[in-house]
Formats: sequence, C-alpha cells, structure tokens
Amino acid sequence: MSNRVSFSVTCPHCGRKLNVKREIDPADYKEDWDQMMSDFEMEEFHCPCGEQFLGAETAQSDKLEKLLELAKTLRAEGKLDISRNSIRINLGLSDIWELIKEFKDLEGDLL
Ligand SMILES: [Zn+2]
Repeated sequence: MSNRVSFSVTCPHCGRKLNVKREIDPADYKEDWDQMMSDFEMEEFHCPCGEQFLGAETAQSDKLEKLLELAKTLRAEGKLDISRNSIRINLGLSDIWELIKEFKDLEGDLL
C-alpha cells in the first residue's frame, strides 16, 4: 500500500510555506516509527528564497513528533494496526477526542 501524502513545511528563514508531496508506504515504517521521524528531520528542503533547511528546523517537526507519539501509544494499546494492505484503527470515543485535539493543532500547518 502506497499513499501519496502532501504536507507543508514552513521555511525557518522567510516563513514561506512549501508544499511537499511524498509517496509513503506506512508498512515501511511498521516496526520503526522513529525512523519516519528521523527521515523527516534529516530531509533537506529548498525554499524559493534561496535557503535550504532540514525538516528538524521546521515548525512541523514538533507536531509530527507529537502525532507519532500518539500513534505509538494507540498501537501499544492495540488500537492501531498497520499491515501491508491496510491500516486498521479501533478507537474509542476518548481516543478520537485525543486525535481531534492533535489534528486541530495541525490544521493549516502540516496538512
Ligand atoms: Zn525561505
């Protein structure tokens, strides 16, 4: 399963938002969610202002980390299962509320 994911990163130099599109296979990160974080942090982005910066320098870095922490927690509780072909999510109301809170933070920023 491959997903086209689009997100934006904010240039720490000029504040411009760059739209980025990536092919991401969640199964690639199935056993190592921290890898997704470090891949993002090490990725180099090029801004039209002429500056380059790493994912780790962006405002989105903290948010991605928070989101992955949440995903890891849900997975540890057996509420999130990722396999080659699907993502199965089994959430209660309180979990959904947590997610809504997280995504509200992300709105217009990461997505
Ligand atoms: Zn810039």
